[in-house]
Amino acid sequence: MAWLTDYPREKVNWSPTIDLNKCVKCGMCMNCGKQVYTWTKEGPVVENPLSCVVGCTTCANLCQGEAISFPDKKVLRALYKKEHLWAKVTKQLKAQGKLTPANQ
Ligand code: SF4
Ligand code: SF4
Repeated sequence: MAWLTDYPREKVNWSPTIDLNKCVKCGMCMNCGKQVYTWTKEGPVVENPLSCVVGCTTCANLCQGEAISFPDKKVLRALYKKEHLWAKVTKQLKAQGKLTPANQ
């Protein structure tokens, strides 16, 4: 995964939690292209938490009921620091030519 390089996704605590008491069943979260959610009679459920893109919060930002939350971003950033993930991602991006200016 580009955001993690080869770091195991299952070791990263990052996925949505839904408060069904706040959910107004607008369905916005079902727009996630990663199939993290499935729809049930009670509303959305988090079916595939490990498919959630690490660091993404789009569904929470657009949730009409403000019913979706994520783990503390500071913990995620601390993991990136401890495991040197920022440096690894940058190295990978350089190798892929993605940090080469387009006008060179
Ligand atoms: S976006 Fe929020 S309010 Fe809408 S269905 Fe999903 S969890 Fe419920
Ligand atoms: S944070 Fe992004 S990837 Fe994760 S469930 Fe929400 S929209 Fe999908």
